Amino acid sequence: MSELIFIGTGSALESLDRFHSSFLIKSKNYNLLIDAGDGVSKALLNQQINYFSIDGILFTHFHPDHFSGFGGLIVQMEILQREEPLEIFAHSKLIPFIKDYLHLSYLYEKRLKFKINFVGYEHEEDFNICDNLKVISKNNTHIDIYKKYGAEFKNYFSSSSFILTTENKKIFYTGDIGSGNDLYIFSDEKINYMITEITHVSAVDIIEAVKTIKPEKLYLTHISDADTQKINSIIKENSKFYISTIEAKDGLKFKI
Ligand SMILES: [Zn+2]
Ligand SMILES: [Zn+2]
Repeated sequence: MSELIFIGTGSALESLDRFHSSFLIKSKNYNLLIDAGDGVSKALLNQQINYFSIDGILFTHFHPDHFSGFGGLIVQMEILQREEPLEIFAHSKLIPFIKDYLHLSYLYEKRLKFKINFVGYEHEEDFNICDNLKVISKNNTHIDIYKKYGAEFKNYFSSSSFILTTENKKIFYTGDIGSGNDLYIFSDEKINYMITEITHVSAVDIIEAVKTIKPEKLYLTHISDADTQKINSIIKENSKFYISTIEAKDGLKFKI
């Protein structure tokens, strides 16, 4: 049996009620953290998750609410003398940046007592995290708005949506997206659980998309304090079509 735990369910806007968006998938013999935004070490502490229990970290993109807690988390592991290797999964274009970032944070590979294994994935090519957890990514349009700022950044243009498969169940995680169209990125798949962000997409777009995607359960995340009405309208409308919709909260868990 696997389990998914929401570590943070907030948006990029700081909140006293939610940490930034991140969740953990605990499968039989592997614990994968998806995204590590600002404050993630404290968010994990808040959920009583031991840093050493994390075997790997998978990144969607590098906005600070998804990435900037990463250095601090490595520091926690180093101070507490982790010895087990840690795997980092990111799009292959982004791996050199992660390595540079660690070096510029003085977290040299030679200095650390544990090994970091970097795994670069390609979009639309599935890869195994462990025997009970498989991932496939697709590029979404979340960061396309920055393309106008210069071609020199083009190597870093990757923002992923994922399907994570564990226990023969498919979890569609939108990641941060660019518009309602990105909700259909995996619409040819049979989705068991859908986790959608709600910041960059309208309530109407989510309500329409789930009629096509038909997940068994829909979890809403990436929530700001001002989103109560938006969430309520999605839950109310979806209930008319018997689509079970849950507002994720920090610490919410479900079994897979
Ligand atoms: Zn975000
Ligand atoms: Zn983002």
